[in-house]
Amino acid sequence: MDGDEMTRIIWKLIKDILITPYVDLKTEYYDLGLKHRDETDDKVTVDAANATKKYGVAVKCATITPNYQRVEEYDLKEMWKSPNGTIRAILDGTVFRSPIIVKGITPYIPTWEKPIVIARHAYGDIYKAVDGLAGEGKAELTYTDTDGKKNTVTVFDFDGDGVVLAMHNTDKSIKSFAKACFNYALEVKMPLIFSAKDTISKKYDGKFKEIFEKIFNEEYKAEFEKEGVDYTYTLIDDAVARIIRSNGGVVWACKNYDGDVMSDMVATAFGSLAMMTSVLVSPDGVYEFEAAHGTVTRHYYKYLKGEETSTNPVATIFAWTGALKKRGALDGLSDLADFAERLERATIETIESGKMTGDLVGMFNLPGVKAEKLTTEEFIKEIAKKI
Ligand code: NAP
Ligand code: MG
Repeated sequence: MDGDEMTRIIWKLIKDILITPYVDLKTEYYDLGLKHRDETDDKVTVDAANATKKYGVAVKCATITPNYQRVEEYDLKEMWKSPNGTIRAILDGTVFRSPIIVKGITPYIPTWEKPIVIARHAYGDIYKAVDGLAGEGKAELTYTDTDGKKNTVTVFDFDGDGVVLAMHNTDKSIKSFAKACFNYALEVKMPLIFSAKDTISKKYDGKFKEIFEKIFNEEYKAEFEKEGVDYTYTLIDDAVARIIRSNGGVVWACKNYDGDVMSDMVATAFGSLAMMTSVLVSPDGVYEFEAAHGTVTRHYYKYLKGEETSTNPVATIFAWTGALKKRGALDGLSDLADFAERLERATIETIESGKMTGDLVGMFNLPGVKAEKLTTEEFIKEIAKKI
């Protein structure tokens, strides 16, 4: 799935220099660039999501999520929805974000030697809540069942101004989330932690805990034991403490809000959004790979003016290698999986040899190696030499 702006430029460089010379690609191509989404009334996004379902693996370039300014800039027929949102809804998937670890780029927490992968539940809670202002009076929550029977509880009896919020989630969505997390942990053979606050939110968070436990015991326990992978449920505050003390190498499943916050914390601590991959995993095991960053608009405007840009392609390269590895595994093509591994190593070794894009130069610190800033294209060509 092709995309927009600077990442569209990078996408082409990666394909032309690092992929097609080595791999006989039999991919289907979907142009999710904003112009083409507009021309197809966003049908191309739906087609791409359905093709992902059909084939089991996809790789996606970053895309613009239109806002008012983009509607004007691209003269859009409509303010089309976020492509990632559309794809996620069709695949019913969970997003896993994982940092790419390189020697010389030390996380802010230096003991984090291995990746910490955050899985964020991307449905419901405060993101689909209703909230409102209250004054003196009673806030109530009423549930009406299909027979019209009502059950009302008091939220709070206000004697002055205040605020209220009501949110929801569904068993269906929580189950999908749990399955995606268990599948992913097995795939990468990393221990899984799921955290919530069921001591306080006994029914709401308790439901999450219960669903995870049930699905684990009924469907995954044996396989986890066979692979030597652990599953742990723990309170969110305990999880935070464990993660800080750990040396990484863990998948951390978070409720929607926790995941929103913690993924930014973990990404920042690992150094750079440009070194973070993202994969959407559906409960039935469909994988869509991409970079965690956006279309890098600021660099694109410089590029359009003819200025040199040094945008980091690493996360997009790893989106490709993730997809090729998965394809290789599904089709039993060990050469393809080997090539993907080789490309990852070549990318990491290029940086570790001191050749990198501008964003990494300032944070690179490896004794005896001097950091040299290359343009995106020069950097990609260096990687090709190492393959
Ligand atoms: P962004 O594209 O991630 O870029 C934000 C800033 O982060 C850049 O200006 C740059 O900082 C730095 N950066 C990000 N990726 C980099 C890379 N590969 N190499 C070097 N520096 C990098 O976020 P944004 O500017 O907020 O969003 C731009 C567009 O992307 C928006 O239209 C948004 O809708 C879209 N978006 C798409 C996705 C997606 O498709 N998954 C995700 C997020 C955003 P400096 O300018 O300081 O160098
Ligand atoms: Mg956030």
